[in-house]
Amino acid sequence: MILNNHVLAADVGGTNTRMAIVTGNGEILTFLKKSTHCKEGRDEMIKFLVSFARETIEKSKLPKEKICGMGIGFPGPLNVETGTIFNPPNLNGWDNVPLRDILEKELRLPVSIENDANAAALGEWWKGAGSGTSSLFCITLGTGVGGGIILDGKVWHGASSIAGEIGHTTVIRDGIKCTCGNTGCLEAYACSGGILKRVNNALSEEREADKFQPLTNLKQIDQMVMQGNEIVLNVIKETGIILGIAIANLANLLNPEMVVLFGGVTNLGGNLIEPLKEEVKRRAFKKATESLRIELSQLGDNSGLLGAAKDILSKLQNQTSP
Ligand code: ADP
Ligand code: MG
Ligand code: ZN
Repeated sequence: MILNNHVLAADVGGTNTRMAIVTGNGEILTFLKKSTHCKEGRDEMIKFLVSFARETIEKSKLPKEKICGMGIGFPGPLNVETGTIFNPPNLNGWDNVPLRDILEKELRLPVSIENDANAAALGEWWKGAGSGTSSLFCITLGTGVGGGIILDGKVWHGASSIAGEIGHTTVIRDGIKCTCGNTGCLEAYACSGGILKRVNNALSEEREADKFQPLTNLKQIDQMVMQGNEIVLNVIKETGIILGIAIANLANLLNPEMVVLFGGVTNLGGNLIEPLKEEVKRRAFKKATESLRIELSQLGDNSGLLGAAKDILSKLQNQTSP
């Protein structure tokens, strides 16, 4: 029985890649996290994924035949039927790459690929905050801003695999230029690099140019907020408001039971989340918000991994059942 076996799961991000061995019941046995090698381009990144996968299998000490497949959450739009990555805005040199075929050949395992945010949504629905719900929207806040929709326990992909891409919905007309080519996208404001840029802009306006040292990561932003820096705090609150606008739109459009927030940027905590929740209430229909739960991921680092595991487990099971 497939459920007694194990799968390799991967959550690939523009900053971090996590891999684990997951049991059929969603138990995580071996967990590893590394910085994603993506700056040197596509081929180096594929090599990195293959060697990371082999390392995770080795560290698990499981015999190879115990691992029945690999599920991956990958950042950016892709075709789940063919396992082809289109052209992710946050990765250079990727254009119609048949990643599933490449990995199946290298690892000699059946592989299935899902968008990273769809995988996170599926993981939260399977084992996390969304367990027991029938409709859920998961927003991933990291190097980019992604979104995944679960309806009746299934990922909704849309007509051409784009469904859920909330990061590339417009929140500000003629706003900041986005990596996707559009302007004013949510991602340009609420992804880690976007927040950092906006904080640096706000700080530099207040200081003389020669004395200004730009911040380089969001942990420094955390520290400045803790020290009570109002300028930084205002940028975080504004980011919450902008996210709230996007979520109010989606609440009125889809009327989901739950919105789950996942990813490194959610570490900014209440300064981001409270203004976000207020803005959703202010803008969306009362009927849509009364029943809407906005929750932080309950699975910490693991939502995407568990969703990727669930994805390959379901596919393997469908193959074996009559
Ligand atoms: P990805 O999936 O795109 O690789 P992650 O979800 O792993 O991204 O999140 C990584 C991002 O989270 C980093 O870019 C970092 O700026 C941000 N981050 C990490 N820790 C914190 C923190 N304590 N506070 C705010 N942001 C953080
Ligand atoms: Mg991610
Ligand atoms: Zn965009």
